[in-house]
Order: sequence, then C-alpha cells, then structure tokens
Amino acid sequence: MSESTFPTYEVLALRFGTHADRPARDNFLVDEGQFTQGTDMPMDFYFWVVRNEQHFLLVDTGFPEEMALRRGRTLFRDPVDALTDLGVAAGDVSDVVITHLHYDHAGNLDRFPHARIHLQEEELQFCTGPAMRHHIVRKPFEPVNVQAAVQRLFEGQLVLHRGEAEVLPGVTVHSVPGHTPGTQVVRVPTARGWVVLASDASHLWANIRLRSPFPILDQLTPMLDGYDKIEALADGDDHIIPGHDPQVAQRFPRLSGADDWVCLHEPALDSIETAAAVHVAAR
Ligand SMILES: [Zn+2]
Repeated sequence: MSESTFPTYEVLALRFGTHADRPARDNFLVDEGQFTQGTDMPMDFYFWVVRNEQHFLLVDTGFPEEMALRRGRTLFRDPVDALTDLGVAAGDVSDVVITHLHYDHAGNLDRFPHARIHLQEEELQFCTGPAMRHHIVRKPFEPVNVQAAVQRLFEGQLVLHRGEAEVLPGVTVHSVPGHTPGTQVVRVPTARGWVVLASDASHLWANIRLRSPFPILDQLTPMLDGYDKIEALADGDDHIIPGHDPQVAQRFPRLSGADDWVCLHEPALDSIETAAAVHVAAR
C-alpha cells in the first residue's frame, strides 16, 4: 500500500460475548468426517472500531442483553457501554458500518441516534423481501433490527451502498455476498498494511483457509469467490480478521489502558501458521 496516499487508522476489536459448548462440526457446511466426536470450537462475538485523530467509525453494533438471554448466548459486556473505554459516547458516533443485518451484528441501532448507518442496498432488500418467508433464512435476523434500519432510512440517515464505497478517507466497504446477499467487508489502511474486517464473510480463520464455509449460507459460489476477493484486498493472511474467531482476541496485543480491546493495526503476536495449526488440531 502507499502510505503517502491515505491516512492510517487504528483498528480495534472487542470480544463482547461467546457461544461456548459448540461442536466444531457446527461451524462448517460440509462435515467430511474430519471432526472428532465431541470436539468443541466455540464462536465469539465481536465488533470493531476504526479510528485516528480525525475520524471514528464503528463497525457493527452487537446485541443487547435481552437478545443474549433469548438466544442462549453469553454477553461479557454491553457493546455500547464498552465504547466509554475509548472515551466515546454512543450519541457522538457519526458513522456506523453494519456488515449485515443478522442479530449479532445489527442490534442497539437506536442507541446511535446521530450516526449515519452504512449498509449494502442488497441487504435491506433481502431482509424486507420475500426471502424472509422462509423460517431458516429469517432466523438469524430480528424484526426489531430491520425495523430500526427502515426507521433510519425514513430519517435520511441510512446510507445504502452498491458494492465498493469509501466511508472514511481511504477506508472502503466491499460487497462480499454469500453469508447473506448484502454482506460487506471493511478495508482499512493501517501502519502494518491493509487490514480487512471480514465479519461473517469468514466466521473463523479456518473457514477461509480451508475454503470451507460456515453453514449459515445463502449463496455458496459467491461465498467461495468472496474468499479470493478478501485475500486480494488484504496485505496477508493475518490482515484478514474473521468475524467470530476466538483467536482474534488471543493473537493481537491488548490496548493499553483498556485491555478488553485488542489492536488489529499491530502485528499478530504469533504467526498465522500457529493459528492454522490450532485449527487443524481441532479437526
Ligand atoms: Zn455473525
């Protein structure tokens, strides 16, 4: 990347919840008999912050305690309250990217009353259209979140993108359909190169590395094509940040003074080979 073209940003992740006691085979569409019976591969819940001296961008908004209880998930922290660690009040946030409208990424929108919400147009069409008549398709969505997005549309605060768009100077969103038709990833220039917040375009490092998608899936071939696209956008394997991998919180340095957060703009503490080995050992 050209350091002189763009400002660089810090990229932070907060692990705010988990779904433990989850069999490894639940995280892959195709079980080729590779998982030992009883092997667990938990999924953690994250959201992300992109910031520098001039700008602050929130990527996804997590979900509230009530939703965690209803869906049997463990919430470590309220995602909105956790922003105070960074000296930021929700009411002051000006821009929020929603990677897709699933419940674990698009809750709490009402708590960001002054933010522009960046969403792919295709995502809004999908979750307000006939696809939602299918129980299995609508299950990861919550009507309250879809209604909140529509409310913002009517308030002129929903920014609908068609594919690639710049949301901050040098920071772009890119459509990567598959998990849902309107899933988008966020590409950020950092001091260590281009980092891509893949969100659920790859739940775990194992999904993209093994080309083995997560089973909540709308379109298989675009999902697989999306892995290639993400790799082309990022400056290396550990510049790709999966949406739910417990290793994200373990592999990157903690933020000084707010150690629930990890610094994705800094090099990983180990090599990606170490991370891959852990995944393969779990298979
Ligand atoms: Zn998710």
